[in-house]
Amino acid sequence: MSSMLETENLMVFYENAVAVNDISIEVEDGEIRGIIGANSAGKTTLMYTLSGIILDIKRKEEMRGGERITVLGKVLYKGENITYMKPSSRAEKGIILCPERRRVFAESSVFENLKIGGYLFKDSGERRKMLDFVFHLFPELIPLKKRPAGFLSGGEQQMLAIGRALMAKPKLLLLDEPLLGLAPSVQSRVIKAIKDIKNEMGITLVIAEQYARPILPIIDRGYIIENGAITLSGDREDLMSNPEVKAAYFGV
Ligand code: ATP
Repeated sequence: MSSMLETENLMVFYENAVAVNDISIEVEDGEIRGIIGANSAGKTTLMYTLSGIILDIKRKEEMRGGERITVLGKVLYKGENITYMKPSSRAEKGIILCPERRRVFAESSVFENLKIGGYLFKDSGERRKMLDFVFHLFPELIPLKKRPAGFLSGGEQQMLAIGRALMAKPKLLLLDEPLLGLAPSVQSRVIKAIKDIKNEMGITLVIAEQYARPILPIIDRGYIIENGAITLSGDREDLMSNPEVKAAYFGV
């Protein structure tokens, strides 16, 4: 049986600078996999490569005569080579990215943002079911349905961004820095929702995060990346008890 998602010797270059350096990872069905790394470690570039957005960025750069982006190695989804598959086709297969810094549509209402997330569904019954789940997961959003997303707090915007990604009915949800800029109490709220997404919906998650302390306890397995390369991998307990991880992320 092949893994849900695998990369083989993935490399991404911006011009001659390497952002993702020989990354091989495996993600199994139903787990939460962490990608932990500091600023500029390469997390966003890796998430763009898994979701396919890097191909759009590469094409745009080529059209405007901008920087050269090179992707080498392979991304496999359930054994199929999707390295050069466009992001919309990956989304149809269930690979959905919730991007860094939320990126909600500021002028659209909460409800419109969620509807946009569900555009892949022809079936309105399916859409309704997902919407119910999103409001069950984030009841905070119910009284805010009509409010423009730009007027929400950072935490509410993050809930909306995750809700919008869920509306696309992911099988594999890629969360890029979901805790960025949130107060610790709001981080705990988002963490709880992430656990519920896995437990109640059986959705597989890959979470890229720099805040190791709140994230490590909820991942099944993870990778530490530095300067674009994996420096350590293991299950939750291995990583949490590792002296280098403790020193770098727990301040002990
Ligand atoms: P952050 O937490 O700051 O978002 P990150 O771990 O997500 O960091 P990336 O954004 O993937 O890291 O960046 C990895 C490396 O690639 C960095 O050195 C960054 O400066 C570089 N980089 C990212 N985007 C580009 C780009 N469009 N052009 C050139 N270099 C880039």
